[in-house]
Amino acid sequence: MHSSKPELLAFLAEVGSGILLGQVWIQPVDRGFRMCHGADRTKPFEELDPLSTSDLRPLALFTPAGGFRPLRGSPDLRGGWRYEARDSEALWVALELVYPGALVDWYAIQCAPSPVTHYRPYVERQTGMYRITAMLTPAQVATTAKACCAVSFCLKRRLWKDEGLNEDPAEAKSIIPCLEPCAVLMEFARKVYRMDQDASHALQISGEPLATVRAALEAALENRRSEVRDADFSHPLNPRRLQCVLDRLPAALEKTS
Ligand code: SF4
Repeated sequence: MHSSKPELLAFLAEVGSGILLGQVWIQPVDRGFRMCHGADRTKPFEELDPLSTSDLRPLALFTPAGGFRPLRGSPDLRGGWRYEARDSEALWVALELVYPGALVDWYAIQCAPSPVTHYRPYVERQTGMYRITAMLTPAQVATTAKACCAVSFCLKRRLWKDEGLNEDPAEAKSIIPCLEPCAVLMEFARKVYRMDQDASHALQISGEPLATVRAALEAALENRRSEVRDADFSHPLNPRRLQCVLDRLPAALEKTS
């Protein structure tokens, strides 16, 4: 079936012998397309678990452990599956289920005017409980983005910026762009602001105790607790909170005489 969608036509021109969109590998075959997890692209296609179109939404919504995925760009898409799209329109439907809006955003950044909304203009139009996000300093915004948008949490390439905060490099993430702060980032920005208001979190630490704290945070990030939801920033073991504290530790150990 011939598509009239400019986004799809442009994307099809880039597919070549195969292309990775987020964590989904797409390969043209005959008139259709094969899809599987990027980590499975070298496995025999027929040995993967076949999915129907109705299976794709649950695939995108839940982690392998059954947890909710608040961000479709998070790098924990379940593997071991295959999907066959009979034509380009079926491919569009399938990709919209796994990565909603990804092709539209991917196409938009190739067109003028720029579709990106940077942090300040975005937060200045917020109302209600999100008005507080306009009060973050540039340093706090950078801290928030560094932890919240880290490649271990989100594969979208952040294109929005703030003073002192550049966009993600092209090679750092996937070809799916992030055009404006998402709901998870806004919620995390509120948390960072509130945490910084709490002077009790400030402490002096150096030497071996600092090494212990760093190792404990890295271990907690490595072994994430499944009961801690990604977007539950009230939980002290929330992975983005752990990353944020880790990022703020001094880089080098101070020498103790
Ligand atoms: S704001 Fe950050 S976490 Fe949210 S979608 Fe964009 S890159 Fe991902």
